[in-house]
Amino acid sequence: MIREETVLARSFTLPPTLDALRNYVDGQFVETERQFDNISPIDGRLLGKVHEADAALVDRAVRAARRALEEGPWGRSTVEERAAALHRVADVIERRFEEFLAAEVADTGRPVEQARKLDVYRGIANFRTFADLGKHAHGEFFETHLPDGTQLINYTKRKPLGVIVSISPWNLPILSLTWKAAPALICGNAIICKPSEETPSSAVLIAEAFHEAGVPPGVFNVVHGFGPGSAGEALTTHPGVDAVTFTGESRTGAAIMKAVADGVKEVSFELGGKNAAIIFADCDFEATVNGLARALFTNTGQVCLCPERVFVERPIYERFLAAIKARAESMRIGWPDEPGVDMGSLISREHRDKVLSYFKLAVEEGATVLTGGGVPQFGDARDQGAFVQPTIWTGLPDSARCVREEVFGPVCHIAPFDSEDEAVRRANDSDYGLAATVWTTNLSRAHRVAPRLHVGITWVNTWFSRDLRTPFGGTRLSGMGREGGRWSLDFYSETTNICIKV
Ligand code: NAD
Repeated sequence: MIREETVLARSFTLPPTLDALRNYVDGQFVETERQFDNISPIDGRLLGKVHEADAALVDRAVRAARRALEEGPWGRSTVEERAAALHRVADVIERRFEEFLAAEVADTGRPVEQARKLDVYRGIANFRTFADLGKHAHGEFFETHLPDGTQLINYTKRKPLGVIVSISPWNLPILSLTWKAAPALICGNAIICKPSEETPSSAVLIAEAFHEAGVPPGVFNVVHGFGPGSAGEALTTHPGVDAVTFTGESRTGAAIMKAVADGVKEVSFELGGKNAAIIFADCDFEATVNGLARALFTNTGQVCLCPERVFVERPIYERFLAAIKARAESMRIGWPDEPGVDMGSLISREHRDKVLSYFKLAVEEGATVLTGGGVPQFGDARDQGAFVQPTIWTGLPDSARCVREEVFGPVCHIAPFDSEDEAVRRANDSDYGLAATVWTTNLSRAHRVAPRLHVGITWVNTWFSRDLRTPFGGTRLSGMGREGGRWSLDFYSETTNICIKV
């Protein structure tokens, strides 16, 4: 067990068992010859080594998953048995909460208190919610009378899709992996999860939870590695895989779509965003400043749902700029365990280079940098980490690259608008369509504007509040399909119609 000081220690050392992160295949923790480094984004230290899965190990995982469905007890299990298994997994995570927390914080650099409230808790909630939803899933029934007097009854039956591959990003590792694994498993599938190469630790702990919970071998597998030429490509091109559920960049989604095309596999894609926030002059000013600051800077702006395009109605534009600038400048950036810390590091130096390239580009495109635009200096080990300042730009046209391309950092562009129609038109002027927020106290306006936005989810006077029973997904470059609640159960099931002549 991890000691309390592991969470609180400045070194953010991983628990000893995570120093060399292994794959989990067919109920066994597997080492490989090839390894890669797991680097701390907080201070650039080596956290440990990760055993990279090659095509042969991926093949072993796919075969084990198929065997678990065709020969093992999982393939014959009832939904009640599967729900009990998922609740047991959630129990283990709950019991080992501090270990999961330490792993997530070490890999991501996020403030401990944010990870405590969001990440580990959501992992547990995903298993419990889908275990319970699965038990209430049902089919449909139709009575049919043909003109010649024939009577038929039709009913639908959900069956598992088979072997599922889940490929997840680094920004919310526990949340993203369990969001896919829980519904896939309650529907009776077997799954192979590939966490991001940047955040491999919590996936190993989840594998340990499955092992401890006594879930049969081959049902839940974890393989580590990268995309092209590594585990990611081996998974998406493997002929034994029935469906791929992917969360990550839109470009990667396109590459995966091409990879699965020959096998005509089912896909579900949750991709990037360039989300709009529309702030009307009739908003609750203080609540909106607080709400927008949370939406911009949570997880150092590395949430696919963070707004990077903010439109503020002209009568409050200048006042709003002053208020949000003050909020950004009061953000405390630092160690994950520092009391009152608001923002941690970005995920890596490589990602910081990308964010900094947009900071430079914004200036070249003619932006006014209202605040930020640089790297904080600490004078200690954090200078080897991946920190950036919260950054706000104004003055760019809607056509600027910095207003159109996803940056994925603590940054936004703010522009004024003069009418409701103009705000809706400009918010919709994007290649993406994941999420939007609308800030107003006018109820009619909220109901008028929200459905006009071409996105998968619109929040009014809030952000990132989720009910796991509701649909989630994006339009345009932001994704394909919906997951959440019964939409997840639909994706992870093959629906068969059975027609009986009476
Ligand atoms: P990424 O696309 O670079 O990587 C995601 C995963 O795909 C990683 O596990 C990576 O190893 C793997 N991968 C990369 N290339 C691959 C290939 N050719 N074949 C198979 N696998 C491959 O994304 P990222 O940088 O890890 O995450 C950030 C992105 O994720 C942002 O664009 C963000 O908006 C998006 N995101 C979307 C949602 C959503 O729900 N829509 C949620 C979280 C993150």
